[in-house]
Amino acid sequence: MTNASAPNLLARMRASALVHAIERSAVLRNGALVALWVLVWQLGRLVEYTEHASVWFPVAGLTFSVILLDGWRSAPGPAIGCVLVTLWVCERYAVPLSQGQRLVAGLLFAAAHVGTYALGAFLLRAIARRGNDGLPSLVLAFLLIAALTSLISMGLGMWVLVSTGMMAAHDVERAWLAYWIGDMAGVMVMAPFFAAILGALFPRAAARFSSNYNLRYQNATSRFKYKLLLNVVLLSASMLLAYSTRSYNSAFAIFFLVLPYMWIACTEPAFYNVLAVALGSFVIALLVHLLGLKDVVMVYQFAINVIAANALFGLALPSLIADNDKLRRVAETDSLTGAASRAALERQARHEIERCRRVREPLALVVFDIDYFKKINDLFGHAMGDRALRQVCAIAQRNLRPSDMLGRVGGDEFVALLPGIGAEAALAIAERIRAQVHTNELESALLMTASFGVAELRDDDHYQDIFERADRALYVAKQQGRNRAAMLAA
Ligand code: GH3
Ligand code: MG
Repeated sequence: MTNASAPNLLARMRASALVHAIERSAVLRNGALVALWVLVWQLGRLVEYTEHASVWFPVAGLTFSVILLDGWRSAPGPAIGCVLVTLWVCERYAVPLSQGQRLVAGLLFAAAHVGTYALGAFLLRAIARRGNDGLPSLVLAFLLIAALTSLISMGLGMWVLVSTGMMAAHDVERAWLAYWIGDMAGVMVMAPFFAAILGALFPRAAARFSSNYNLRYQNATSRFKYKLLLNVVLLSASMLLAYSTRSYNSAFAIFFLVLPYMWIACTEPAFYNVLAVALGSFVIALLVHLLGLKDVVMVYQFAINVIAANALFGLALPSLIADNDKLRRVAETDSLTGAASRAALERQARHEIERCRRVREPLALVVFDIDYFKKINDLFGHAMGDRALRQVCAIAQRNLRPSDMLGRVGGDEFVALLPGIGAEAALAIAERIRAQVHTNELESALLMTASFGVAELRDDDHYQDIFERADRALYVAKQQGRNRAAMLAA
């Protein structure tokens, strides 16, 4: 059953003739969108707890995501959907309006709904295309846009309902907050979900949104289904608790769900994170409806938003960790020569000193410095100086074992950390590097030399002690005429 994973399923759907046809024909695409929009709207109505207010409004997320991926080309589908459902609601609740007035109400609703979410989608697109802010900023921008566009959509929607006579003005005060939070949940939860699925089916549209943020469709871990099951069991238990105690306070237990959802966000690929949040939100909305938890519905609406917002920040975690790794690598290596930075070398040296003392092994340090390096810079330019540094570094690396470490501790000063090696052997290695630097010809037949100071670890030495001894030996080598290796007498 290894092929039954969501990425494989999406890849198979992507290859189907229907998906190809939808991709090519705008008419077909918008036709399919009308059907999908009305279907998702019915799904939202399934959890409607009072007229014009459901726990969430998933079509808001659908409208947002299709315009995000496909722009105005996919706006007619949701707009026609808005008109159709308005006509249906008028019919079903026997709203006392003529067919013409109903049509106007539908068109106004379409303009308010599609217009607002298109505004949000285009704004997010512009931010994503700049692409230099990183995923956490994009998530933050999305959450703010979701909150603001759903607020505007609610305001305009209420205005349409009241001005067309579909809602009494005095009902606005009772309904506006639930309307807003329900729309916001629809965008926060369902826009990432639809964008992930539609982006996989129509990769060209996804690339149009932004090539900077490619969702990688990796497989979930084998434990994903158990995590999902655990989440659904926990959220059902918390809602049954609220149902059986009929206590307002116990409804707040749902907020503990933030923890298992964060667990999924941190351990599963992005697509499954989004899928888990969409499923969890649907179950919450459904249970509010089935258990008749109308009195505490606002608690659940807020919970859906809080869980979704948290999980979306979870999406940004892998990219934050990768950035951190990159920063650490930058901080630990010298960019010019590729040797370890001074901080990384000192950290490793302290660690090795501890270890060698524990296992009673010797350890040696070689400090070396290019002779009259300033002259190379002065006579041949800084770029030649840089090449000299890289060459000396490469020669030293060739003479070291993988367990040794080479660090650049100053302008032209390097340190080789040699664990498990005594003074005499270290002196021989220093001598070998010295001879190779001396015979190595830099460009323009420029010859270069370097001087070396060697020291061996003594009892009770700290890093600073052994470094200072090696540095003093280097000073002696310079004093004695350079191009040599020296060690202080014991
Ligand atoms: P000595 O034999 O006594 O070591 O003489 P020296 O000329 O090498 O003297 P010193 O070690 O003080 O010179 C270091 C020079 O290295 C000074 C500085 O301008 C140069 N330098 C430091 N960092 C860099 C770098 O990244 N690239 C280049 N090209 N030069 C650098
Ligand atoms: Mg020097």
